[in-house]
Amino acid sequence: MNEHDSERIAGQLLGEGYVEASNQEQADVLVLNTCCIRENADEKLYGTLGQLASLKVTNPNLQIAVGGCLAQKDRDIVTSKAKSVDVVFGTHNLHRVGELLRRNELEKQAIVEIVEELEAYPSALPARRESSHSAWVTIQIGCDNSCAFCIVPTVRGKEVSRRMGDIVHEIEDLAADGVTEITLLGQNVNSYGRDLGAGQYRPKFADLLRAINEIDGIERIRFTSPHPKDMREETFVAMAECEKVCNQLHFPLQSGSNTVLAAMRRGYTSERYLEKLDLARNIIPDLAVTTDIIVGFPGETDQDFEDTMRVVEQATFDSAYTFVFSPRPGTQAATMTDKFVDPEIAKERIIRLCDLEKRDATTKHKDQVGKTEDLLVVDVSRQKPNMISGRTTQNKLVHFDPKGQAIPEGSYVRVEITDFASHWLFGDLIEVISRPAKKKTLLQVSAG
Ligand code: SF4
Repeated sequence: MNEHDSERIAGQLLGEGYVEASNQEQADVLVLNTCCIRENADEKLYGTLGQLASLKVTNPNLQIAVGGCLAQKDRDIVTSKAKSVDVVFGTHNLHRVGELLRRNELEKQAIVEIVEELEAYPSALPARRESSHSAWVTIQIGCDNSCAFCIVPTVRGKEVSRRMGDIVHEIEDLAADGVTEITLLGQNVNSYGRDLGAGQYRPKFADLLRAINEIDGIERIRFTSPHPKDMREETFVAMAECEKVCNQLHFPLQSGSNTVLAAMRRGYTSERYLEKLDLARNIIPDLAVTTDIIVGFPGETDQDFEDTMRVVEQATFDSAYTFVFSPRPGTQAATMTDKFVDPEIAKERIIRLCDLEKRDATTKHKDQVGKTEDLLVVDVSRQKPNMISGRTTQNKLVHFDPKGQAIPEGSYVRVEITDFASHWLFGDLIEVISRPAKKKTLLQVSAG
């Protein structure tokens, strides 16, 4: 979400006539888009601002703007701690950054503008996309939940869904521009539409998937993240029935202990989670499932952790993003200091969990060998520079030899999976299915 916000800030400024500088020394405007979900975000911000302040000596016209959720949370503290900052904006008014920069130029004083709540999502904002073939599309911002470890509801506010027509139009425009894969973004995508159209027709997330599935030119639809508590059978059915919706589900577990889940205020038990997971796998063929798990949440006992290991063993995830708990200022969990888990114990636990995750991921990859997969070509392989990389519909990374063919980024190719490691697969190129309609970057691979 934060990265897509950066694309939207850049797109807006480019639309207002700004041009991209090749480095920060040559820039007249620097925008720092902060994310306080990151560990030590404030230390990093003020450290960076300290370094950037010296650029104002050589370029007195330089404007520094700080936006994003840390700015939303700390607002006036930013300008008092870092005098070099000219503009502070929050998560709800990034569409106003150009105007705030101009006000700062005129008024010659720091401008701080934070909006508490967003009435409607500013749909018309352009984005400067990093990729020519894939795009993020925000469908909803904010979150109505209150997970004890999470700062998002404080800094992003209540859930606000975008109108379905606006989303569909944006995706139609993206498709016309050559984008074939979209990822729908929201803090809790499957509660999409709950706040729309009081008393009238309220679109649900499943309706949105079906509408996007009809858009010509779009080949793959992904989304992140659903909340297990709100995931409904109708969404799984829509995923199965819409051929463009990828057979991949990110389903954040967070913990396998019911005591810890209650303390986290997640709103489900491990049994309910596993039931929904079974339902998803029964409805959606060949589904890949990834998850997030926090180890060492305040109060987590040995038994709680063993419960997590048991649930992970049962769930057999394709991969898991595992984290040792670290308190985020402003969250309920950050105040549970008397229950913090010894870091050495948390470290031992996460090593065991990662070993289990790696074992499951490797087994899943081993099962792929011999299968034929269609890939969206994304890049030159980072592991093997003589190879190209693509992603399957399950979002698995596959490296393959282009066999001397020029295969631009954004092409679709068919491969046979020949080998595996825990976090990627190797494939043998069978055929190039399609090349992008518009001119795209040609991937240069090194010989040998
Ligand atoms: S549902 Fe997600 S975004 Fe909302 S509070 Fe929980 S973790 Fe944060």
